Amino acid sequence: PLDTVSPASQRPTESTVRIGLVLPDVMGTYGDDGNSLILRQRLRWRGYDAEIVRITLDDEVPDSCDLYTVGGGEDSAQKLASRHLTGSPGLQRAVERGAPVLAICAGMQVFGEWFVVSDGSRAPGLGLLDITTSPQASRSIGELVVDPQLDGLSQPLTGFENHMGATVLGSSAAPLGRVVSGTGNGAPADSTDVDRAASGPGAGQRVEGVVQGSIIATYMHGPALARNPELADLLLCRALDVDSLPSVDITAVEQLRRERMAAARR
Ligand code: GLN
Repeated sequence: PLDTVSPASQRPTESTVRIGLVLPDVMGTYGDDGNSLILRQRLRWRGYDAEIVRITLDDEVPDSCDLYTVGGGEDSAQKLASRHLTGSPGLQRAVERGAPVLAICAGMQVFGEWFVVSDGSRAPGLGLLDITTSPQASRSIGELVVDPQLDGLSQPLTGFENHMGATVLGSSAAPLGRVVSGTGNGAPADSTDVDRAASGPGAGQRVEGVVQGSIIATYMHGPALARNPELADLLLCRALDVDSLPSVDITAVEQLRRERMAAARR
C-alpha cells in the first residue's frame, strides 16, 4: 500500500530522491512508516522525483539512499532490528557520509550504545548515538510538546509518546529540545544510569530527543513529520543540500499544533 521499491531496484532517473524506510516489517508502530510518505509527498509537491525504498529483515541494508527513516517498535522487535542493522551495516556507512536519518522511539534506542528492555536484559545498539536507554519507574504515554533547540527549527514540536525506556545522553549527543509538556527522554530508574544522567548534556533539565551528526532522533510518534512539517523540510534541505524549499501550507497541521499547545498550557 505504501507503493515502495526494493533495495535492489535501479534508481529510475539520476535525480530521483531515494528515501530508505528501515525495517518497516518490525519497526513502525503508531504509523511511523508515514514519515517516509510525508517526505516523499513534500518532495513531489516541490517537483522532485522521489521514491521509498523498503528495507526489510530479508534485505541487505543499502548505503546509497539519500535519507533514511526508522520507526519505533516493541522490545523484541528492536532487538531483531539491532542485530540485522549490525550484521548489514549500510546505514552506518550512510551516516558516515552524512546522509540525514530520522529515528523514532525504539529506533533512537537501537542507534545508541545499549538499551535495557523491560525484562531487564541489556542489548547492544549500533553505537551511532552517544546514548544509553534503560527502564523508567513507569511507562510514559500521552502527548508531548517540545521547544526545539536545533538551528532551523522555530516552531514547537508535538507528538505522541509511548515508551518505558528513558534515554540518557553522553557528551557527543545533544538534545533535540526542551520538554514543555510530557516526558521526553525521561529518567532511568536504575542507579548507574542516574549517575550518567547527572553529568551528560541536558542533565537536570527535561529534554527530548537526540541530535548527533546527521541523525535526528525523537520519542515523537504521530507520525512526527506529518505533525511537524518544519522538521520534515529540515531533513529534506539537508538531503538535497539546499538552503530552503518553497513553502507548503497545511491548515490542519497548524490547527493541530495550536490545539496541542493550548492543551499543554492548561
Ligand atoms: N520498546 C521501547 C520502549 O518501551 C520503544 C517503544 C516505542 O517505540 N514506542 O521504550
